[in-house]
Amino acid sequence: MVHNSDTNSNLRWVWKLKGHIKQKTFIWTCLRNALPCRSILQQRGIPISPLCPFCSNHNETLIHLFLECEFSKQVWLKAGSNIQIQYYRDFDSWIKANATCKDISTLNIPRGTVFIYLLWHIWNSRNNLIFNLVTVKPEQVAYKGLAAAAEFWHLTNSSKSISQLKDNVHVNWSPPKEGWTKLNTDGACSGNPGVFSVGGILRNSNGNWTHSFSGTVGSGSALEAKLWAIYLGLNLAKDTQCKFIWIESDSLLAGFTEFSITHTCREGNMCADKLAKQALLDRSGLTFHQQTPSHIKLNILADQLGVLEVRTIPML
Ligand SMILES: [Zn+2]
Repeated sequence: MVHNSDTNSNLRWVWKLKGHIKQKTFIWTCLRNALPCRSILQQRGIPISPLCPFCSNHNETLIHLFLECEFSKQVWLKAGSNIQIQYYRDFDSWIKANATCKDISTLNIPRGTVFIYLLWHIWNSRNNLIFNLVTVKPEQVAYKGLAAAAEFWHLTNSSKSISQLKDNVHVNWSPPKEGWTKLNTDGACSGNPGVFSVGGILRNSNGNWTHSFSGTVGSGSALEAKLWAIYLGLNLAKDTQCKFIWIESDSLLAGFTEFSITHTCREGNMCADKLAKQALLDRSGLTFHQQTPSHIKLNILADQLGVLEVRTIPML
């Protein structure tokens, strides 16, 4: 592949690319043969080694740097970008064909945007190596490039991308606040019902592991497995002197999209408290009530009215 085609005198298309102005300027500079790679600097009379900083085996031309160097090949490969390396008659055609590509990548963003950002990150990692002596692995460059492309695309196309990206919502784990412990649990079932196993982990506000557990503990439904995991996790938290606990389990729990468990005092939990105590007194079997049990009607009303001192309500 050679560098310059005779066609790129008109580069207006560069400014229509789907990328930040910084990346567009970078592409424009590449196409104007003005990016200060070592071969270009040497051609301009600057006394500098022309060797590629990544491999030291070849002269650092733009074609070598972005296409032919083993480092860059690995970046394209790790990014799973399906970038075509051959089949273009010159460097500029290669840039144009890839940068303007509107096919959708696996990240649900145009391949052109992915290409621009990967190219830019290869250039950045090359500069970091030369000027800051920082070495990075090709997979890190690929990851950073993909992340920057995704960020740009989602920020500038949020309404469109949200509908397109229903199945690609990014979820991250957050640590608990200082002094708190976070319990993440899950249960797995080999059928529903079937033999189930549980797993759980406790982490502190720095995100560091403090304790964890896992194992096959019984047989039952998927819901039972997940509840067992929470139960065991809470016991572990208690045994290890956790004072403030945040519980997180995945959304499969009972089919809820989200759920939250909060702590309250007995006075704030009077309805459930009374149901349990009355059942203990009656020694009654498990019952699913068809209507509001009469002995908690006043407590429900008190809760609805936001009565603070529930203990002052006369007991039935
Ligand atoms: Zn090289």
